Amino acid sequence: MLKRRLFTPGPVPVPERVRLAMAREMIHHRAADFLPIFQHCKVGLQRIFQTAEPVLIFSSSGTGAMDASVSNLLSPGDHALVVRGGKFGERWAEICEAYGVRATCIDVEWGTAVDPARVRDALAEHDDIKAVYVTASETSTGVRHPIREIAEIVRERDDRLIVVDAITAVGVYELPVDAWGLDVVVSGSQKAFMMPPGLAFMALSERARRFHQSARCAHYYFDLGKEIKALDGDQTAWTPAVSLLFGLEEALRIILDEVGLEETWRRTERLAHATRESMRALGLELYAPDDPSPALTAVRVPDGIDGPALRKRLKDELGYTVADGQGAAKGKIFRIAHLGYFDRFDTIGAIAAVEMALASLGFSFKLGEGVRTATELLRD
Ligand SMILES: *Cc1c(COP(=O)(O)O)cnc(C)c1O
Repeated sequence: MLKRRLFTPGPVPVPERVRLAMAREMIHHRAADFLPIFQHCKVGLQRIFQTAEPVLIFSSSGTGAMDASVSNLLSPGDHALVVRGGKFGERWAEICEAYGVRATCIDVEWGTAVDPARVRDALAEHDDIKAVYVTASETSTGVRHPIREIAEIVRERDDRLIVVDAITAVGVYELPVDAWGLDVVVSGSQKAFMMPPGLAFMALSERARRFHQSARCAHYYFDLGKEIKALDGDQTAWTPAVSLLFGLEEALRIILDEVGLEETWRRTERLAHATRESMRALGLELYAPDDPSPALTAVRVPDGIDGPALRKRLKDELGYTVADGQGAAKGKIFRIAHLGYFDRFDTIGAIAAVEMALASLGFSFKLGEGVRTATELLRD
């Protein structure tokens, strides 16, 4: 018997309660019985984003909200700054290009975090930059970027925005939208929200709403003005993904009311820490040793071991699906998720599976050392 276990940093496992909530009878999204469900989601999202500003809900994957964060805030020919240190930083630059927004990119070595001084220098050099696009947790490399420090620099002036892809940061670690003065913060359902893919979320500041009014990039489906107006009446502009909202209500109940947001951050950090230490104990190297995101751990495939063969063995023989590297890191790393519906026994199991796969591929190390390290760290 082989149980399938999903350890990718999105999609993630979905708790049974959330799956069952989504199975309920369809209701009409403009009818009175939908209202309390939507209101719970609306308020819960504000709590998890740590904001009093509106949090919009889109029926799309996370990239839909990223797309809207360019098309609805800027005009063709506007100048943006992009921090590009992985696949998702690249995505910001690609979206800017698609809308005719000029992007100046700060290229950051993969596996490392940006030095905020480089953002300061770029802003000083180009005083026409209207928006700074950054990634909080760069899921492709496992790096956590210093958003608070970057926000302080951007905030020195009032006429520019800081837009954060926090898709694997919201619900993973503390990223207080209002307290840090973040203008636009984006996330998605298939990450820390323990949901299937299909919903994107976007918090936006008063300043961002002002920018929206003068933005001239073409857009139709993703229209922040229409969505803000609809949200005021506890609605979405278009038909929402009703069943996913049933699930979101249940997931937010678990995260916010039963487990607690701080406990969720703490658990995720503990799992990440234990995984990093156990990989080191096996003699493996981390891809982002200095600035790791707790959302996931990116581990270098050791010399002499074939990356795809390692992942294949984990999946086909041991039931564990871990993620490959993306882009330049493809085949060179594997990534283990911690965000969302994972507990310490899940993580210890994943570490055991990595050990078994490595052993069967002939990697030389002391079998059990990773599990011992993690057990010690997660004992109480
Ligand atoms: C998952 C993810 C995205 C969004 O990808 P979608 O496939 O559109 O949901 C964007 N940025 C980061 C950092 C992510 O982890």
